[in-house]
Amino acid sequence: VTAAFPSVSKNRTLVIGGTGFMGQFITKASLAVGYPTFLLLRPGPVSPSKAVVVKAFQDKGAKVIHGMINDKEFMEKILKEYEIEVVISLVGGEAVLDQISLVEVIKSVNTVKRFLPSEFGHDVDRADPIEPGLRMYKEKRLVRRLIEEYGIPYTYICCNSIASWPYYDNCHPAQLPPPLDYFQIYGDGNVKAYFVDGNDIGKFTMLAIDDIRTLNKNVHFRPSSNCYSVNELASLWEKKIGRTIPRVTIKGDDLLAKAAENCIPQSVVASFTHDIFINGCQVNFSTNGPNDIEINSLYPDEKFRSIEDCYDDFVPMIHDKNIRAGTKDEIKINNDRKTLVEKGTT
Ligand code: NDP
Repeated sequence: VTAAFPSVSKNRTLVIGGTGFMGQFITKASLAVGYPTFLLLRPGPVSPSKAVVVKAFQDKGAKVIHGMINDKEFMEKILKEYEIEVVISLVGGEAVLDQISLVEVIKSVNTVKRFLPSEFGHDVDRADPIEPGLRMYKEKRLVRRLIEEYGIPYTYICCNSIASWPYYDNCHPAQLPPPLDYFQIYGDGNVKAYFVDGNDIGKFTMLAIDDIRTLNKNVHFRPSSNCYSVNELASLWEKKIGRTIPRVTIKGDDLLAKAAENCIPQSVVASFTHDIFINGCQVNFSTNGPNDIEINSLYPDEKFRSIEDCYDDFVPMIHDKNIRAGTKDEIKINNDRKTLVEKGTT
C-alpha cells in the first residue's frame, strides 16, 4: 500500500469475474489496498486451478458470494445486504450483455458510488475494429449508453494492452513468453501502442475508484515509458535473451483475412491487432475531451512498471517446457502461424 492510498475500511467492492485473466489483477489489487472485497462466483463446479485462485483470495480476506450476474433479485439483495459501494465487472467478451440487468439493478438500488463495467482495453467509442471484434465493442458501447442514460456514477478503464508480446491470436498473451522462432511484425512494425503490467492495471484502477477526478470519465492509461512499437518490442526481447530472431511481416490484409475466418476467439484478437498495429487505435486520438483523463497525469509520483522489467518475467518462462509447449489450442495456433508463413502470404 503506497502513500497515495487512503487508510481504508471503505469502498466495499464487489468484483464480478474476479477469477478471470483481468479479474485476478483487480481482485489482488483490491485486497492489497484493503478494500473490503466481495467476489461474485457463478454457482457450480470450478476447475482445480480456479479453486486455488479463489482459496488464495479468501485467505487474503475476500468474501465469496455464489450467484449469477443476470439474476436481478439476487443481485439487488447482495448489493443491499453487503452495502456494496463499488462494483467492478470483468466478465469476458461473451458475457458483456449480461451486464445490462446489472446496470438496471444498480440504478434501482441507487447506493453504488462507482460502477466500472467490463472495459479494460480500448476506448470503445473511438476504436473501430472490424468484425468479429466490432461486435464486442458495440455491446460495450450499449452498456456505456445505458449507464449514462440512468445516471449511474461510472469510470471506464481504458488501460490499452497488457504487457506481453502481442500475439494476434491469443486473448491472454501475457501468459506466454515472446516468440523464440520468429517474430511476426504487423505492417511496418512502427505503429506504437501502450503495454501495461497487469498489476499496474490493478493498482491504478484502485486509485481511480477512490478519486472524484475519474468520476464519469474515460480513464486512459498512457504512460510514455510503456509506449512501444512491435519493432521495438522485438529488439527488447532480443536484448533480453541475447540473440537475434528472424522477422516475418504480417500485412494488414493478412490480419483482415484471419479476422474474416471468424474463428472465435482468435479472429476477435486478429481484428483488435489490426486496429492497434495497422490503424493505430491506441495513439490516433487526443485525450483532451471533457470526458477524458490520463491516469498517469493524476498520480505523477506513482510509477508504472517498465516494459523492460515486465519482459524480464518472460525469460524464465522460456525454460519451462510446459509453458512453451502450450495448450492443445496454442499448438494448433502455432501450426496455423507456420502455415501462414510457409504459404508465403506474408
Ligand atoms: P475471462 O474470460 O478470463 O474471465 C471472465 C470472468 O468472468 C471469469 O471469472 C468468469 O467466470 C466470469 N463470468 C463470465 N460470465 C459471467 C457471468 N454471466 N456471471 C458471472 N461471472 C461471469 O475474461 P478476460 O479477463 O479475458 O476479460 C475481462 C475484460 O478484460 C473484458 O472486457 C476484456 O475485453 C478485457 N481484456 C483486456 C485485455 C487487454 O489486454 N487490455 C486482455 C484480456 C481481456 P467463470 O470462471 O465462471 O467462467
